[in-house]
Amino acid sequence: MMSKFCKKCGTELNDDAKFCTSCGERMEQEVVVRSNITGNSFPGISKRSIPLAIILSIVTCAIYTLYWEVKLTDEMNKLLGKTNATSGVMALIYTIITCGIYGIYWLYKMGQNVDEVKGKTGDTGILYLILGFIGLGIIPLALIQDTINDKLDGVY
Ligand SMILES: [Zn+2]
Repeated sequence: MMSKFCKKCGTELNDDAKFCTSCGERMEQEVVVRSNITGNSFPGISKRSIPLAIILSIVTCAIYTLYWEVKLTDEMNKLLGKTNATSGVMALIYTIITCGIYGIYWLYKMGQNVDEVKGKTGDTGILYLILGFIGLGIIPLALIQDTINDKLDGVY
């Protein structure tokens, strides 16, 4: 379903409207067209296949993992409306300059974000931190992705 909106006052108009019914603004090329087909209320974020991401992480010797972490950070921030939170790229830089220590903290913080998306208070941050500490950080990544995929599906 498509509608167009007056660029001056935002009134929703019929597709064939020549003038805004509210303010009289002439409708030409500069109308905003919005599409509700996908139902995705988080533009710029798409679901990601967890098995594929894990396979890519293995075959690229973890280079894809770094990209995945950057994307997960930015997507989580966007889902939670945390516009001032540490960006994915900055988190990656901090991880590199602290020789991985920030990465453990990152897992803890992402665990807290997962709880926040699910609307509960829990110990997911601690769980992720422990998994990262014993070298199983790929498991939290899969769980974070699962949470984002579910959020996009409207589960939470
Ligand atoms: Zn108008």
